[in-house]
Amino acid sequence: MIHYKTKEEIDHIRESSLLVARTHGELARHIRPGISTLELDHIAETFIRDHAAEPAFKGYHGFPYTLCISPNEVVVHGFPGGKILKEGDIVSIDCGVLKNGFYGDSAYTYAVGQISQEKKHLLETTYRCLMTGIETMRAGNTLGDVSWSIQKVAEDAGYSVVRELVGHGVGKRLHEPPELPNHGRKGRGEKIKEGLVVAIEPMINMGKRFVVQEKDGWTIRTADRQPSGHYEHTVAVIQGKAEPLSSFAFIEEALQMNPNNTIIIR
Ligand code: MG
Ligand code: MG
Repeated sequence: MIHYKTKEEIDHIRESSLLVARTHGELARHIRPGISTLELDHIAETFIRDHAAEPAFKGYHGFPYTLCISPNEVVVHGFPGGKILKEGDIVSIDCGVLKNGFYGDSAYTYAVGQISQEKKHLLETTYRCLMTGIETMRAGNTLGDVSWSIQKVAEDAGYSVVRELVGHGVGKRLHEPPELPNHGRKGRGEKIKEGLVVAIEPMINMGKRFVVQEKDGWTIRTADRQPSGHYEHTVAVIQGKAEPLSSFAFIEEALQMNPNNTIIIR
């Protein structure tokens, strides 16, 4: 059953989502060729705990880290580790926090230094999938309308939509009903109503849609090893429209100051 949130509950989820956004801002200062993904994980964990919150993913069904860090052909749920980011990589960083009993969840795919035009176009399109999903998430529409709108942007650009992983309700649980696939049919699914809080998170592949899971039991990568993009906002339906509770503003601000010419995807 979907739990529609009160204003007070949305305020708590907003606070958690803003802390996720500020954690991303901190990470964006450090994104550069030569940094290891484990260093980024430590930066995020320290930042979150310094702000009286807990990393939401650490320990979630046994996930061992604060961040999911998913470079290039890794779609989601990658483990931070010794991998050194290099010029031309793209890397999805997914972060969640728990504060005052409520979760926030947001992901951004960063460019590491200069990236190819092909990767840039994939990321801009994935970003546009997210923004289109947010636009379509309005009272009177259905969840199927949102899913369809995301799929259309991706497929019109010649990309494919990962089917196995979906957006989700957010609240006192990190993942709660409803599920929000990134593909679907117009008019299907629940009607969108006031107080709905969901994480919209398109995962878009440059090649075919198929994914495989690595032997670690978590890491999801594309079967054809082509790159994948991922952007995610936690949003709430307020006065009939989806309002992002998380934000990329801190990322954009930090990337403007980042000396590695790392581009801002928008
Ligand atoms: Mg996430
Ligand atoms: Mg999520």
